[in-house]
Amino acid sequence: MNAKILPKIGIVGAGTMGSGIALVALYAGCEVYLQDAYIQMLEKASEYLKKFLGKKGQGADYKKLHLVSKLEDLAAAQIIIEAAPEQLALKQELFHQLDAICPPPAILATNTSTLSVTAIAAATQHPERVAGLHFFNPAAVLPLVEVVRGAGTSPETMGSLVALVQAFGKTPVVTGDTPGFIVNRVARPFYGEALRLLGERVASVEQIDQIAEGGGFRMGPFRLMDLIGIDVNTAAMQSMYAQTFGEPRYRPHWLQMQKVAEGALGRKSGRGFYEYKDEGGGMEGEKVKVEIGGGSGRVLISEGTWAPGLAEFCGRAGYEIDSVPDPEQQPAACFVAAGRHEEAARLVAWYDEALPADVPMFVQCTEIGLSEYANWVRNPNRLIGFDGLFLAHSPAATLVHSDRMEATLRSRAEKIIAHMGRTPVWIKETPALVLPRMVCLLINEAAFAELEGVADGATIDVAMKLGVNYPKGPLEWGKELGYNKVQAVLDHLFSQYHEERYRACVLVRQWARQAS
Ligand code: NAD
Repeated sequence: MNAKILPKIGIVGAGTMGSGIALVALYAGCEVYLQDAYIQMLEKASEYLKKFLGKKGQGADYKKLHLVSKLEDLAAAQIIIEAAPEQLALKQELFHQLDAICPPPAILATNTSTLSVTAIAAATQHPERVAGLHFFNPAAVLPLVEVVRGAGTSPETMGSLVALVQAFGKTPVVTGDTPGFIVNRVARPFYGEALRLLGERVASVEQIDQIAEGGGFRMGPFRLMDLIGIDVNTAAMQSMYAQTFGEPRYRPHWLQMQKVAEGALGRKSGRGFYEYKDEGGGMEGEKVKVEIGGGSGRVLISEGTWAPGLAEFCGRAGYEIDSVPDPEQQPAACFVAAGRHEEAARLVAWYDEALPADVPMFVQCTEIGLSEYANWVRNPNRLIGFDGLFLAHSPAATLVHSDRMEATLRSRAEKIIAHMGRTPVWIKETPALVLPRMVCLLINEAAFAELEGVADGATIDVAMKLGVNYPKGPLEWGKELGYNKVQAVLDHLFSQYHEERYRACVLVRQWARQAS
């Protein structure tokens, strides 16, 4: 596409997305025909567009906007973007009509979030000129657009749409036509696992958000669901579950259905997982300034790679580090960071024998349960499970203790964690805790998407960083953590739940073999 000769854009539906896409096209200098079946929606869109174009000093471009009420008024457009409600029958009817109103070589695109582009194209005589053009909300702000190749979409149509997205100043990613495309699909476990953890009473809404935000996510899953709209998010989940004939990874959770049923839809209804009566409701967690230091004496750290950065942190906290117990010198605490069960069992039993019963012992519980460790020692009440994998990267330290742990031992353990500049977040024992579970399942979902040819790994990573602001692309995150560890976390979840939902993708297994 010659950037100087911009196509005339037709948009069907002047709601949230249609008006946002119109703004993007007007900013780029396109002539825009914005159509809606309801006059009040056109009036609302007009106000919104006037305000934003005025703010950017592009008031003149408002003249390039044509507000129209009939589909026939889109006949002059060269690229039509449909942003009507997410109903397959409605979209098929619109495309059937557009096929006659806007003949080839006009391109027909749909902004659907989860429906099949191929099924929408089937309502036309020319599926080769039909594709998905999936903008993110708010369209004027978010840089990513997924360009979705339907089964019959021609390379020319894809090329023109990629060029259009670039002319809009956005980043296109090309994806296959599979349920949820890249972003809505790969992000599923972020919501799904958070809902499960809450449903199993492992941690509160606030704690799960605190832990996720500590791990680098801009917003925790519950704050984000409230922002997106719990109804919208649930509908995406239901659509993906139905289209995949009940893939367990996309199974909706009763908690979200209940929220929808009671009308607690998130910010837009004043209540969701948080209340929004005052300004602060559901705001991002306060970023506490991390202060490291104040520790003294020794801590013992076992060999093992399941707590990367732990020794450095303990050193910065002011502790001397050793790995061998010394009967003359009682340590402040002991950390067991081994991963393989036999090795972890041997080490934890050895330290337990050698150390007085009032020394707290931290055991990594990323892929071994606290109750498993309890079987290997004489003093199980001194054991504290910790998330070794993310300890060095997150200001929120996820911890688990047995019901019978003494309060004095617990507060000593908290002091040590505080000296490391971490905030202790105590949760109930659960396989793979919070961050390892969420992050490894995001990585697994990204691997499935790559396996099924939705997009290549690098594209998936870009899409997740730009589409939902993830701190890292899931596949680069997998590399950083080590795919052998990702697989171990998934296998631990699978062994505890015996659910297909937690099966590791074959690509994760291949990458794990390459990593070890
Ligand atoms: P919306 O309800 O805000 O807007 C839909 C608009 O379509 C309304 O203005 C409505 O009056 C109009 N409409 C209804 N029937 C019509 C018809 N027969 N002809 C013309 N116009 C008609 O919905 P939205 O959030 O803008 O979503 C639109 C599409 O974009 C959906 O497919 C949705 O899945 C997708 N999407 C939404 C988001 C989001 O966060 N809202 C993000 C990405 C994609």
